[in-house]
Amino acid sequence: MLVSATEMLQKAKAGHYAVGQFNINNLEWTKQVLLAAEETKSPVILGVSCGAAKYMTGFKTVADMVKAMIDCMGITVPVALHLDHGTYEACYDCIEAGFSSIMFDGSKYAIEENVAKTKELIDVCKKKGMSIEAEVGAIGGEEDGVIGMGECADPRECKMIADLGVDMLAAGIGNIHGKYPANWKGLSFETLDAIQQLTGEMPLVLHGGTGIPDDMIKKAINLGVAKINVNTECQLVFAEATRKYIEAGKDLEGKGFDPRKLLAPGCDAIKAKVIEKMELFGSVGKA
Ligand SMILES: [Zn+2]
Repeated sequence: MLVSATEMLQKAKAGHYAVGQFNINNLEWTKQVLLAAEETKSPVILGVSCGAAKYMTGFKTVADMVKAMIDCMGITVPVALHLDHGTYEACYDCIEAGFSSIMFDGSKYAIEENVAKTKELIDVCKKKGMSIEAEVGAIGGEEDGVIGMGECADPRECKMIADLGVDMLAAGIGNIHGKYPANWKGLSFETLDAIQQLTGEMPLVLHGGTGIPDDMIKKAINLGVAKINVNTECQLVFAEATRKYIEAGKDLEGKGFDPRKLLAPGCDAIKAKVIEKMELFGSVGKA
């Protein structure tokens, strides 16, 4: 059964650790993240972008697959299925499809329209027992074609959006999606501290977790980050392990071309990476 992300994130914020959101791309990805969560007794959030959902043929396919896997695999830890950077339309598609959590990314709208749409979606989510994430300011880098520069959110604007009744708040603190450039200045802890002072108990979300040094991650958790999104890092280790397998000519040996064999090293790499992140975030044993 899926749960909303509200309770797991409130516990994380109070307990000074963070729950990982691991984005899924296919059945293999989903299976490895669930295995990692169950093995480490960690709560987990499965993130699905609009692009990934389109790839998997639709939000309904994703929701039905995840629910069936939780059942067939005997998963006992709390699992939330969360729409990542959802458009207004995608939010309703996910509510319909049976997701347990959504993120409404209204950064393309003027602030008044963003607030109005956020409020409306908060009401729908509350009635359905779903959790909802909002974003203040644009988070840099590229995600599904959306490009930003790694800016810092205005803490007062964060407070205003938090007060609308969202369950978690993503705010730009110099973080960006994808790989970080060599001249990246690092996270702005000053901004994070100011946001946390104003928003109190609100679990804060750190997007673009790939490539942020471990000590910065730990400091961010100490300053109120309770959810960290990881996507690119799993893609990189999957690709690397798969390349090694093919470069070693293993697909040419015996039945090495069987997808269950060919994808196995990449799958193992995803699982190991997810466990490594859960240990870093401190969510191990918190299910
Ligand atoms: Zn993001």
